[in-house]
Amino acid sequence: MNQHKLMVANRSEIACRVFQAAFEMGIPTLAIFVKGDEDARHLTFADEIAEVKSYLDVDSILQVAKERGVTLIHPGYGFLSERSHFASAVIEAGIGFLGPLPETMEALGGKIAAKEIAEKLSIPTVPWARLDLAKSSDAELKAAAERVGFPLLIKAHAGGGGKGMRRVEGFSELKAQAESAAREALSAFGDGTLFFERYLQNPRHIEVQVFGDGKGNGVHLYERECSLQRRHQKVWEEAPAPHLPESIRRGLFESALKLVEHTRYRSAGTIEFLVEVLPDGSIKEFFFIEMNTRLQVEHPVTEAITGIDLVHEQIKLGTSFDSFRLPEVPAPRGHAIEVRVCSEDPSQDFIPCTGLIDHLIFPSGPGIRVDRGIEVGQKVGTQFDSLCAKLIVHAGSRELAVRKMQYVLRETVISGVGSNLAYLSAISINPSVVEGKVSTLFLDRKFKDFHPDVTPESIAMFEEFERSDAFRDSGASRPAPSESHARKTWNSADLWGGMKL
Ligand code: ADP
Repeated sequence: MNQHKLMVANRSEIACRVFQAAFEMGIPTLAIFVKGDEDARHLTFADEIAEVKSYLDVDSILQVAKERGVTLIHPGYGFLSERSHFASAVIEAGIGFLGPLPETMEALGGKIAAKEIAEKLSIPTVPWARLDLAKSSDAELKAAAERVGFPLLIKAHAGGGGKGMRRVEGFSELKAQAESAAREALSAFGDGTLFFERYLQNPRHIEVQVFGDGKGNGVHLYERECSLQRRHQKVWEEAPAPHLPESIRRGLFESALKLVEHTRYRSAGTIEFLVEVLPDGSIKEFFFIEMNTRLQVEHPVTEAITGIDLVHEQIKLGTSFDSFRLPEVPAPRGHAIEVRVCSEDPSQDFIPCTGLIDHLIFPSGPGIRVDRGIEVGQKVGTQFDSLCAKLIVHAGSRELAVRKMQYVLRETVISGVGSNLAYLSAISINPSVVEGKVSTLFLDRKFKDFHPDVTPESIAMFEEFERSDAFRDSGASRPAPSESHARKTWNSADLWGGMKL
């Protein structure tokens, strides 16, 4: 594939991950960076590097791409990945866009438009209504809200990352909440269009990975459970979803495929659903919420249970559209879990942490994958997303996968910058998580006041860890631990004190 050159219009772990796939397929690569990000890990993964004005600056990115003879652009996730104007500009420049067509992104990218398509295909959606403060009278708003039912959730049509979302208990709050949601959505997405939908009382977030050939054919690669969320942001993802009735699972797959085929979807995508867990624990219904027209952060758990490399498929499709054949998806194998390691401090309401990474230990071994964007010597600031690394495990059963995740979290060390490792460790040993019986409300309710205590025992354990083979093998040397040091490094120590794996 030497006639190709692939640029990732992104940074950090996703750029590293795509560069690895390109290397494996024999395609030369170009990484981009901005001022202040010269020490980023993804730059060491590419054959060439080039500076751009910003990871969001389409003109600057395309100018570099043209100057350097780039033939393929992978957008990663976040940044420009779901901006149809970027996909259009890439295609107009004669470069292959490794994602869906811009028309499809436009049709499915907005939540209202996607709901309308789903409804046309008889896919169940959460009861919803448009919310136009300028056009609707109070009486109209009230009638629509009552049809949907309280509590309700205001959402932004262009929304993502929980932005522009507000839970509303009653009509008296509706207008004020809508005004603030519209402001937030306008500043985040340049579009303040809102709608509201019924707030499901005890939902689980389950999504289906799909891949379309752009000619009306598609496959699904099973589902992922992403119910462990903090303020609507995923923290822990797994595949398959535990304790899901087969009839619901079948319904999700059928609906997902209908959407892919109807929209002639091209490349990798995710169709998100909520299922409602009733008070007796049963699940009777599922509801489509939105489609993400890109590769997701949590795609590795799907790769683990299917053995299919989604980025390889994206590159194959992008380089040989006419002869491309959809992958044959085998029966799912075992169970996979991913956690998102972020540079944020759980003891201070998850404020982003900054620092210079002076030491890292990531375990390896059967069924362990680490996708990371950080490296020793790298400065971690607050200008970018706080996601530093993804820890992914794969085992024959869910029970073993959970144990493996506990092991991986126990053995991971990030030093020099604070992280949420202790929070993730605590989650991994929680009985409801171990059982796989959680809803999207779980973390915000049960882990709201989580605080990683640094105790004399945890410091002692930290010291013991420093004497261990794992630490010695890494060739590191460090000053003696102090309380603050322990917090920043062996984050999980206190939690593992009483636990023998
Ligand atoms: P965003 O695109 O901003 O991430 P989503 O529509 O994907 O927003 O929803 C994110 C999360 O918010 C869901 O996974 C779920 O936890 C919660 N959520 C969304 N819609 C509802 C709803 N109608 N009822 C209850 N929770 C919801």
